[in-house]
Amino acid sequence: MKKIVLLFIAFLFMQNITAQTTYILCGKLIDTKSGKINTKKTILVKENKIVDVMDGYIMPKGGKLIDLRNKVVMPGLIDMHVHIEQEFDRNTRLNSFILNEADVAFNSVGFAKTTLLNGFTTVRDLGGTGVNISVRNAINKGKIPGPRVFTAGKSLATTGGHADPTNGSSRKLIGNPGPKEGVVNSVEDAKKAVRQRYKNGADCIKITATGGVLSVAKSGDNPQFTIEEVKAICDTAKDYGMHVAAHAHGDEGMQRAIIGGVKTIEHGTYMSNETMELMKKHDAYLVPTITAGKEVEEKAKIAGFYPEIVVPKALAVGPQIQGTFAKAYKKGVGIAFGTDAGVFKHGDNGKEFGFMVEAGMPAMETIQSATITNAMLLKMDNEIGQINKGFFADIIAVDDDPTKNIATMENVVFVMKNGIVYKK
Ligand SMILES: [Zn+2]
Repeated sequence: MKKIVLLFIAFLFMQNITAQTTYILCGKLIDTKSGKINTKKTILVKENKIVDVMDGYIMPKGGKLIDLRNKVVMPGLIDMHVHIEQEFDRNTRLNSFILNEADVAFNSVGFAKTTLLNGFTTVRDLGGTGVNISVRNAINKGKIPGPRVFTAGKSLATTGGHADPTNGSSRKLIGNPGPKEGVVNSVEDAKKAVRQRYKNGADCIKITATGGVLSVAKSGDNPQFTIEEVKAICDTAKDYGMHVAAHAHGDEGMQRAIIGGVKTIEHGTYMSNETMELMKKHDAYLVPTITAGKEVEEKAKIAGFYPEIVVPKALAVGPQIQGTFAKAYKKGVGIAFGTDAGVFKHGDNGKEFGFMVEAGMPAMETIQSATITNAMLLKMDNEIGQINKGFFADIIAVDDDPTKNIATMENVVFVMKNGIVYKK
């Protein structure tokens, strides 16, 4: 009996601790909805939620205080295109032959943590081996620190396409990958591949609608799916509440993807004016990945860094991406912030803001793209992307006003996700 009473008291004590309110004093606070920067605000956080945002500095009575009076505070950032399982280097090709799933998992732990500590509290993972699904689960259960992950699991490709996992391998090793492995060559395969991803636990679907830069294959931009295959993928995905993201550099493949029903076009390198209009008509969003373009262009100049067949593709595609983004933005195409982190170092995601501003998008709009736009695309617009009552307590801070110094986005100094402080 005594034991039970003691346990009950301990329980009440614990409840009291976890229910404690945290008061975050904000010198400047970005309202992503209105695009305004407010001054002198206090955010009240209880457990994992924002319970109030008040005018002025409210000092806690018994609660916890976080003083960000000399910082600029904003909601946690959302990157719509990362690869949380890997980071490209000279050995990447070899890695696919020597690493076991557990090795990939351990690598992901570091990448996920770095991403979070740099202010990205939510990411969409657009393809790996499938370990990314376990990484998401481990983060959600609080076993490892990392951003909220929405993952495509393994990307879908056609035989020899950008995400065919056996490209460039010895014929002894390639076998006959099919829908289960993410390789699709018919409408039937397309349905099966999507259903397999659902079964595996993916949140969304990624297709490689055209050739790509880093695959060991000749073309970086040819169309790689028929329109019927894309349509079958998108229609099936819809049945399971999943949206479809399409990697695309070439214009023809991009058009097929948009008409077929994909929600986002990744990279969009050779997008024509006609395709930009098509994007607007179908309410599809461009995920720019300018940082990845810059990276592959730079690394292609280092002898031996990429396989030989990759180099000319990297030199052609890399330098085009920022210019296409500038045109698409000017034409009014919806922009969903995304970087392709993993092609470059995880944690450098914030560089994308500077590249977007350089291309003509106002700083505040780049932040809105990385918060409210992406939250809407992930169907999380009532939970993340804003600092408002009832939203998850995903809160970050930088030293400077990003509308005056966009480089400050590369140096996030405070990170709270789901009410837990990870960096201060
Ligand atoms: Zn990618």
